[in-house]
Amino acid sequence: MTTRPKPVTHEEAAKLDGDDPLASCRDRFLLPPGVIYLDGNSLGALPRSVAPRMQRAIEQEWGVGLIRSWNDADWYPAPQRVGGRIAALVGAAADEVVCADSTSVNLFKVLVAALRMRPGRRRIIGELGDFPTDGYVASGVAELMSAEFVALETDAVPDAIDERVAIVSLTHVNYKTGRVHDMAGITRRAHAAGALVVWDLCHTAGAMPCDLNGCDADFAVGCGYKYLNGGPGAPAFVYVAKRHQSELRQPLKGWHGHARPFAFVDGYEIAPGIDRMLVGTASQLSLIALEAALEAFDGVDMVALRRKSVALTDLFIRLTDQELAGFGLASPRDAAQRGSQVSLTHAQGYAIMQALIERGVIGDYRAPDILRFGFAALYVKFVDVWNAVATLKDVMATKAWMAPRFQQRKAVT
Ligand SMILES: *Cc1c(COP(=O)(O)O)cnc(C)c1O
Repeated sequence: MTTRPKPVTHEEAAKLDGDDPLASCRDRFLLPPGVIYLDGNSLGALPRSVAPRMQRAIEQEWGVGLIRSWNDADWYPAPQRVGGRIAALVGAAADEVVCADSTSVNLFKVLVAALRMRPGRRRIIGELGDFPTDGYVASGVAELMSAEFVALETDAVPDAIDERVAIVSLTHVNYKTGRVHDMAGITRRAHAAGALVVWDLCHTAGAMPCDLNGCDADFAVGCGYKYLNGGPGAPAFVYVAKRHQSELRQPLKGWHGHARPFAFVDGYEIAPGIDRMLVGTASQLSLIALEAALEAFDGVDMVALRRKSVALTDLFIRLTDQELAGFGLASPRDAAQRGSQVSLTHAQGYAIMQALIERGVIGDYRAPDILRFGFAALYVKFVDVWNAVATLKDVMATKAWMAPRFQQRKAVT
């Protein structure tokens, strides 16, 4: 174990910022003054590159180019192009990822396709406490395909992988706790039992290094609006290992997954390669926003990004230990098992988070008692961490969270 200097003071946090090789990346984002944004794990901040690119896309490409822009502005190949850029962040080859649809829809496509690849097996294994849509979609697929979806306690997953299992479907970094699965180990175990693995990378892509190819991963999905900063409702991505692509049959047979969409023929002819994961017309403007947003990762070494992310979350845990009482820690203390977030627990978590947000420290709340803080290392500073904990301490000391306006639940938490 390395020992870090105990960063108890604001000055020490400021010194960490001074020594941060990624400090200048923050200038790639437009963050409102007075806000400490610790919710990039839910909706990434706005990269500076997006608005000018969108203005051009809207005024020139759409307004002037009109339908010609599908060719002239290279709109048509954008799902593959943006997928290729994301592939570099998740350890995949450019032709193994496309950007389309939502994570939920991509999960559906991938689970059905994977189940078809294991005709003798009818079991999908998932994990209790995963992001709900993952379990909902898996159970929907099970209903449709006369299969069964079994959600298990995390620790029970590895031993449940046997020759009855077709698919192990897991989220690499848990959305509530930030706990990280051993991608290589679980994938190896599943393959030894003849099962396929689907990894959900929603809290991984853009947050930490990921080596899909190195782990021999089969399938993965992930979203564009969290650490990839693609904006609200940004298109998601889907990865299919090259070795599975020719055999893959996904159920949503739309014209963009056709080998020759513009032949306009009656019969479906499956597209070669990763293109078969496409369904219909891309959400082009959102795709353009995501593509521009990904420029924020240009030249960024993901190992350096991870090093900073670990330092940020370590500092946050250390300061909460020091400064706060009455909170639990729902995230692993061991940084190796933790993604880029820290979750605290408190019975009054909702009201406390609302009081924090009113003071400009934006995290979020996840039922029943979790205060979630995401640390997007491209734009969060060490002094942000220090100030956030100081603000939380003050919210508790002054009982500010008890104000009636903080008790009212909003629709989106
Ligand atoms: C955010 C998230 C999703 C979101 O799915 P959408 O279809 O984009 O709404 C799915 N799975 C996990 C694990 C997530 O964290």
